[in-house]
Amino acid sequence: MKLSFIHLIFACFFMSGCAYRGIAPEITTPHSFQRPIQPAVKKELIIVDAGHGGKDAGASSKRESYEEKELTLETALLIADYLKQNGYKTILTRTQDIFVPLVTRAEIANSLNADLFVSIHYNYSSSKDAKGIEVFYYKEEKKETPSFRIAQSKELGEEVLKKIVKSTGADSRGVKEANFAVVRQTKMPAILIEAGFLSNPRELEKIKDPQYKQSLAKGIANAVDQYLARHRK
Ligand SMILES: [Zn+2]
Repeated sequence: MKLSFIHLIFACFFMSGCAYRGIAPEITTPHSFQRPIQPAVKKELIIVDAGHGGKDAGASSKRESYEEKELTLETALLIADYLKQNGYKTILTRTQDIFVPLVTRAEIANSLNADLFVSIHYNYSSSKDAKGIEVFYYKEEKKETPSFRIAQSKELGEEVLKKIVKSTGADSRGVKEANFAVVRQTKMPAILIEAGFLSNPRELEKIKDPQYKQSLAKGIANAVDQYLARHRK
């Protein structure tokens, strides 16, 4: 928008039939202005962690043909895509169906000094009625877990949950504390998203739908963008 406006001013300045003379100028768009607008490159690095992988399938059912590890990878790839479209640097802890130990996932984020860590999982319950999305962060205060990280993880979790409930129409189960290795071992604000119940037939159908996963991923990426915009120095 800004570029087009500036261009219009320049066009008015140099064109003979300018509005200055009370004649409406014929506005043409030079080829260079027809390119899609590139997002501003942002400095933050976000680690996107697809839960499970390889020998660890996560929740799975042959009869209902799903494996959590596949669904998390598909979703993580979409999240990374949307973040890249927003100008962010992203690293995935896995891009294929391989086993990556939990501690390695956290080490990847720590060694790269990443700004945020976002882990994606799908839930399972013995009750078919259990439904909705919940987001976890690590709360226990230790020397290596400064309180700013706890507060920022919680804030990020709240932003993400709010946005994905809006983008998918799913129920919110809230932002909760948990002692999961990937959110405990990481040193930056970190969350783990349980993005719906594979044990709930209605939610499973939605989760299998590529468009639903796109809405989910878009909501997560928008929330990350909003959170970082608030914290950018
Ligand atoms: Zn999982």
